[in-house]
Amino acid sequence: MMSMNVNSLSSVYSIKEEKKKDSFTQAKAVGAGLLASQTVGMAAMPINMPLMGRMAKISSASDADAYRTALKAMIDGSALKNTGLTLIDLSKDKSVAKEFDRILKNSNAFQKFMIKLTNPIYQATKGENAAYAPILNNVFVDIEKMGASVFHELGHALNYNTSKFWKTLQLSRMPVQSLLIPALILTAILKKPKKDGEQPQGFLDKTTTFIKNNVGKLSGLAMLPLFAEEIKATLNGQKYAKKLLSPDLYKKVTKSNIYGAITYGVVLAITAFGAWVGNKIADKIREKAETKQA
Ligand SMILES: [Zn+2]
Repeated sequence: MMSMNVNSLSSVYSIKEEKKKDSFTQAKAVGAGLLASQTVGMAAMPINMPLMGRMAKISSASDADAYRTALKAMIDGSALKNTGLTLIDLSKDKSVAKEFDRILKNSNAFQKFMIKLTNPIYQATKGENAAYAPILNNVFVDIEKMGASVFHELGHALNYNTSKFWKTLQLSRMPVQSLLIPALILTAILKKPKKDGEQPQGFLDKTTTFIKNNVGKLSGLAMLPLFAEEIKATLNGQKYAKKLLSPDLYKKVTKSNIYGAITYGVVLAITAFGAWVGNKIADKIREKAETKQA
């Protein structure tokens, strides 16, 4: 009698201990997995920076006036004419740069780092990027430094202003990147892997197991519509650049757009890879904890 009590007591105790260890391992696995996928995801920016640098080298100040004339002709000769689109040439208009100076002055080191790394309008004020802001219907670009990339941005403006389909894809960028993909990654990382031969039970288990097993591919797939919208913007821009520019400048725009396409490809691949890595790391941590226990 006595020994049975002790046994059951100790087994209750060890179950409790095991549960504690389990949830500790789970927290460690989820935390490390999420951190890994985010860190890998952030790597797209530094990888793309040299490509952006090459894009900037294609444009030169001496071509700026030819670009300005062609861009004006594209706006006036297309559906953009009556949309209220404003092309803000940051080589002349310094108000946006001043606004960013003010924002940066009031930001902490981390905020400054994030603005410099991820804000395309800030990067445009530095002549390192060009950006279309759909809600404002504004294109931000320093035409002397990034003139060749504006046709692509006006291509985005055409997508937004003339097609419900492309407009919807454009506006889905934020929810896809900041909600859908993180939700896929979180689902995969939270899910414990199946043991050998163990089959998922029921709809929820089957769905989450599928997400876990395919999280890299699914994250890449979720980015595909955004990638398609980028390509469509380039095709729109190319059409007008070909008509309105000298063959030499048209070649430069094409080259700039190819570099641009590579940068979206990098973002897509890195997003998918980050999701895959995060999930793998979470499982590795669980596996290690299990072999330690065994
Ligand atoms: Zn774009």
